[in-house]
Amino acid sequence: MRLVLVGPPGAGKGTQAAFIADKLGIPHISTGDIFRANVNQQTPLGLEAKQYMDAGQLVPDEVTNAMVADRLAQSDVAGGFLLDGYPRNLGQAGVLADSLDVAETPLDAVVEILVDTEHVVGRLLSRGQGRSDDTEEVIRHRLGIYASETAPLVSYYRERGLLRSVDGVGSVDDVSARVLAVLTA
Ligand code: ADP
Repeated sequence: MRLVLVGPPGAGKGTQAAFIADKLGIPHISTGDIFRANVNQQTPLGLEAKQYMDAGQLVPDEVTNAMVADRLAQSDVAGGFLLDGYPRNLGQAGVLADSLDVAETPLDAVVEILVDTEHVVGRLLSRGQGRSDDTEEVIRHRLGIYASETAPLVSYYRERGLLRSVDGVGSVDDVSARVLAVLTA
């Protein structure tokens, strides 16, 4: 299956993505994780991405799109993939759709994890992962970017018949079961 997971910061996307990818035997591709690995290794990509990440802004599309295209060109995605954190705006969604169309490997579904904003601020502040972008100010900025840039993807994918929305409030197991249910329905 070729899947995309969308949801606000703190919706539990990363946790659900790891679970679904494992269950379906497909690679979990998290752009946030790839950026953080590059920041830790101080690669040129990491040095560029860090300034945006620390401010809660999106890394420029040309940088992100090229990074994802490289990842999707690797052989392990031949049997499907789960994208977590990409696309994050309509421009990225268009680039992704074009490259998947060329390869005749369109998306099968887009899972939206629904969680309200106040809920996610509390979750992010308490998760204590020590991420440098988890201060209240940067979290609120990331949520604002989500609302303005990423939320439009929901109607974009709904119009294309790909959207499957899942209630993201509840235990990790409950949410996982809901996600699997919409993917197998
Ligand atoms: P969250 O969803 O909790 O904000 P992520 O780990 O998905 O966290 O992303 C962390 C940061 O990495 C984002 O705030 C952004 O700076 C950068 N990033 C991740 N994915 C993308 C993307 N598709 N486009 C641009 N920037 C991205």
